[in-house]
Amino acid sequence: MRQDTKCVQGGYVPKNGESRLLPIVQSTTFKYDTSEEMGKLFDLKAEGYFYTRLQNPTNDNVAMKIAQLEGGSAAMLTSSGQAASFFSVFNIASAGDHVVASSAIYGGTFNLFNVTMRKMGIDFTFVDPDCSDEELDKAFKPNTKAVFGETISNPALIVFDIERFAKAAHEHGVPLIVDNTFATPINCRPFEFGADIVTHSTTKYMDGHDATVGGCVVDSGKFDWMAHKDKFPGLCEPDESYHGITYATQFGNEKAYITKMVAQVMRDLGSIPSPMNSYILNLGLESLSVRMKRHCENAQKVAEFLEKNDKVAWVTYPGLKSDKYYERAKKYMPNGTCGVISFGLKGGRKAAEEFMKHLKIAMIATHVADAHTCVLHPASSTHRQLTDDELRACGVLPEMIRFSCGIEDADDIIGDIKGALEYI
Ligand SMILES: *Cc1c(COP(=O)(O)O)cnc(C)c1O
Repeated sequence: MRQDTKCVQGGYVPKNGESRLLPIVQSTTFKYDTSEEMGKLFDLKAEGYFYTRLQNPTNDNVAMKIAQLEGGSAAMLTSSGQAASFFSVFNIASAGDHVVASSAIYGGTFNLFNVTMRKMGIDFTFVDPDCSDEELDKAFKPNTKAVFGETISNPALIVFDIERFAKAAHEHGVPLIVDNTFATPINCRPFEFGADIVTHSTTKYMDGHDATVGGCVVDSGKFDWMAHKDKFPGLCEPDESYHGITYATQFGNEKAYITKMVAQVMRDLGSIPSPMNSYILNLGLESLSVRMKRHCENAQKVAEFLEKNDKVAWVTYPGLKSDKYYERAKKYMPNGTCGVISFGLKGGRKAAEEFMKHLKIAMIATHVADAHTCVLHPASSTHRQLTDDELRACGVLPEMIRFSCGIEDADDIIGDIKGALEYI
């Protein structure tokens, strides 16, 4: 199946006489005829369902569809993108360990790593994604367990050099984890460039309709855990909390990482999505490839319009030839990047605030990456407690407007922007 077909037909395949659409198995538990049968499930000796916190058929079918789209070997859904980012790292790193992360990542992920996970004893070194090879090499420590980056960073729109970071990670015997939320597997498949694990906030394009918060972790199945068994005792030594199972030997490279994540991390932390939400996510996934094409077409038109406008000071969009990341985006995302643009008006912060007041189609929202066009002025909303100097220090210019192109008619979106610019 090609990507467009997987969006519609991937994951759940109905058998003769079964429901055409993925059924919502809204049940906490599953019934068995004998205790022996259920015992085999607890021992991970047979596959099946017993309790939805660990596994649920609706959730698993959607995870399978996302794994197919990414070209991975196994996947697990989580209740949010934040949970996916946390699980992806925590599954292989614990107190006393260290992780190298790109500094160009979503603010929520940065805070999770830099504040919350540090409190758990996991150390992080943040590197500029465009740093020299030497600087990148220096960031690694003997206790480094993973490298983390974001395909197209939210909101800076920096395109991550996946191949270069994968090479550095592998030279140090650790996997590369990539947050592929903005590109989606329709525009970029990080595994083809050497990434080992992919995470998603499915809340964005995958759901695509402002309906459900969710996340996903996908494993490529390619990282050889046993080849680096001193670094990954959680996968390569018996898990005493699970009858002494050794995930890497019992499940192999293809399934070890996700099986451990389900059997141990999800069992204990319990951030599962409700089957109802997974059903809604699946409907969103059915049209993902069609929507991504439209998001990119619209964003390209809007970015080109903005670039030519006198009142606009600058535009950042990796699809623009003038963009710093145009060439890198062509390599990793030849069919388009995403629908999110950022730009600044010549009149600065005041002009940005005035401009936004007059938009009618683009809605002011803290959300991005869905069917509805939405817009945000970080300096007066998400970052409003910061001074202009502090804003600049964290890469958010006071005049910056983050504009997420939906799937409406591009001429209506441009008309809306044109109308609001007249007030400046
Ligand atoms: C939104 C977002 C997240 C966090 O996802 P939630 O579903 O909001 O928890 C993580 N990474 C990226 C790139 C995001 O845009």
